Amino acid sequence: MPASVSGFHSSTSGSSSLRRACLDTTGCIRHNGLVTRRTLTNIAIGAVAGGLSWTATEYAAHRWVLHGPFGKGRLRPLPLGGLHRAHHRDPECTSLAARCAGHLGVAAAAAVAAFGLCAIAPAAAARSAAVAWSAGYSTYEINHWNLHHRPARTRRGQQLRDRHHQHHFGAPASNLGVTMTFWDHIFGTEAVGSNDAIHE
Ligand SMILES: [Zn+2]
Ligand SMILES: [Zn+2]
Repeated sequence: MPASVSGFHSSTSGSSSLRRACLDTTGCIRHNGLVTRRTLTNIAIGAVAGGLSWTATEYAAHRWVLHGPFGKGRLRPLPLGGLHRAHHRDPECTSLAARCAGHLGVAAAAAVAAFGLCAIAPAAAARSAAVAWSAGYSTYEINHWNLHHRPARTRRGQQLRDRHHQHHFGAPASNLGVTMTFWDHIFGTEAVGSNDAIHE
């Protein structure tokens, strides 16, 4: 019967299509599984690289952009140096609008940088690095605000607070890392005393 033949063919054809779809799906999952593992690895590498890059940026910008060109502690007569000079004079003077603009500006710069990084690194690693770098700035900015506006809740927090105040009020050429002491130890700018305090 044409109808049953037609139905049989239709059923066979449907079964075949379903089978092919299953095979395609399985292949797709396998393929995506491989891509996902590779992508996750790239994301992890990018996150570590971006986070480390931020800590170096934090130190370098504070030392060579906001303070003297040779990192001697003098505050440069430039717009950012002027803002930093005002911050040194009055650490608790702050502007929510300026802080929000900082977060947004750095996030936008990171997004633009991600395009360039995609040319020399896998896209997942490039984007992850940009996100981690931007998140590093936000972490620094929030921690820095807390150092000046809130009492420390941990011993480590108190040590970082004391160390940063030492930079503000006694040793402007020292303790230039705010969230990490690592780069100060590498470049020999950890103030005498704060080194012992942070490790005791
Ligand atoms: Zn400060
Ligand atoms: Zn400073």
